[in-house]
Amino acid sequence: MSDLHHDHLYIGGNWVAPATDGRISVISPMTEQELGSTPEGAPADIDAAVTAARGALDGDWGRSTAAERADVIDRLYALFLERSDDLANLITAEVGSPLLFSHFGQVGATGMALDYFAKLTRSFAFEEVRDGMMGPALVRHEPVGVCAGIVPWNVPLFISMLKLAPALAGGSTIVLKPAPETPLSANALAQMCIDAGVPDGVVNIVPAGRETGQHLVTHPDVDKVSFTGSTAAGRKIGAACGELLRRVTLELGGKSAAIICDDADLDAIMPELIAASTMNNGQACVAQTRILATRNRYDEVVEALTEAVAAIPVGDPANMETGCGPLIAERQRARVEGYIQAGRDEGARITTGGGRPAGLDTGWFVEPTVFADVDNSMRIAQEEIFGPVLAVIPVDDAHDAVRVANDSAYGLSGTVWTGDADAGLDIARRVRTGTYTVNGFAMEWGAPFGGFKDSGVGRELGPEGLAAYLESKTINLPAGTEPKLAY
Ligand code: NAD
Repeated sequence: MSDLHHDHLYIGGNWVAPATDGRISVISPMTEQELGSTPEGAPADIDAAVTAARGALDGDWGRSTAAERADVIDRLYALFLERSDDLANLITAEVGSPLLFSHFGQVGATGMALDYFAKLTRSFAFEEVRDGMMGPALVRHEPVGVCAGIVPWNVPLFISMLKLAPALAGGSTIVLKPAPETPLSANALAQMCIDAGVPDGVVNIVPAGRETGQHLVTHPDVDKVSFTGSTAAGRKIGAACGELLRRVTLELGGKSAAIICDDADLDAIMPELIAASTMNNGQACVAQTRILATRNRYDEVVEALTEAVAAIPVGDPANMETGCGPLIAERQRARVEGYIQAGRDEGARITTGGGRPAGLDTGWFVEPTVFADVDNSMRIAQEEIFGPVLAVIPVDDAHDAVRVANDSAYGLSGTVWTGDADAGLDIARRVRTGTYTVNGFAMEWGAPFGGFKDSGVGRELGPEGLAAYLESKTINLPAGTEPKLAY
């Protein structure tokens, strides 16, 4: 595994001494012992990182061609492929993600983001001529500038890459602020930037807490903020950016609904539905945590889910067979247990789980839990729990399922499970969320990802994800001009 103890921060292309002697101790979710440690970034480190990012933007990187930038992203991608086993092991140790998920959902997904944005950089029209009503207009898509990427702990490398890769693709520079729970994987990314020859100052990484994050968000020399995290923090960051008229992308929480149609083959869908509902130990913004089933089949669905969730292997996340590992921190387990109690208090019925798994006294485990008899107005149906807790909600029919799915402050993801894909598409069109899958759970790198309503503002991935890192400029030209396009 990569180095676990660090004394430096990645700023300006090198490992440099931090401004203060503050340190972050990373506690293993599995052993509850220190796994590693790293300097805690302070506002002065952020200042140094923003200065380095501005310097790179004003220097050669700001004048780089799309092909040169695509080469840099490709080199990072090659390193991701080469180091994927190490990275997956590190994420499993740091986050507690089951190793299988670390390979595909964490590291594999990150590599795919690099691959996608490298290809998009090569094909994207950074300049185009439009035959305007007043004559030719050259439309340029210029770098947005110095970007701030604020990243949560649950999928740290992938979410970092949803910001870093399009920033690089568009010619911007970035300061990433990883969550204090996951600085070790962030430092592994920093080392990859060095080894891939990312030009100095283009990427800077300062692990720190939220106060230092606030300093970055409001730093006068930052042009754009991209935040992924809780809706509560997103509101504050959005407000700060609004006041500053700063460009901002917000990827926030979710409470997504899986609609089980009457014609769904429960045996066939169960493995994928369970994976979609409990991925990353339930610590996923897109987890399908509300299961909507018609009253016709409600008991059958509850029974099938109960059986499947009870069978999830809980234990050491480093074991490839494990389906559910420990939660990220003791306070996260307390939060999840608080919601389990709230579900009981509101009259929902636990059909499996609800406690701590027997024989796992060390590590922040909770049992994967299913609640039946849930009303959509209950807290366990409305609030994001961020743990392996499912709420099965009865509905009248497909129309009612759409109503209940939409009866949520959130609008991030959703799924429908049906024997009739056309009927599923009809439902998909009516649910107000940013991404949706018919019969399965999927992400698509070439298509926009993001939230309706309280799940966020803006999109990542796809050309829309690159557009979020570009400023458009129109240059009106004299009639008859045929400009040579620059990339
Ligand atoms: P969090 O909001 O507590 O923290 C996220 C990051 O923001 C951390 O790096 C934190 O240090 C920083 N931060 C917090 N408050 C800040 C502030 N005022 N100014 C600057 N930085 C600040 O969230 P978390 O607990 O780390 O992550 C879990 C949340 O993230 C869940 O709500 C989940 O749904 C959401 N999430 C959303 C997506 C998405 O794409 N929509 C993806 C993953 C996670």
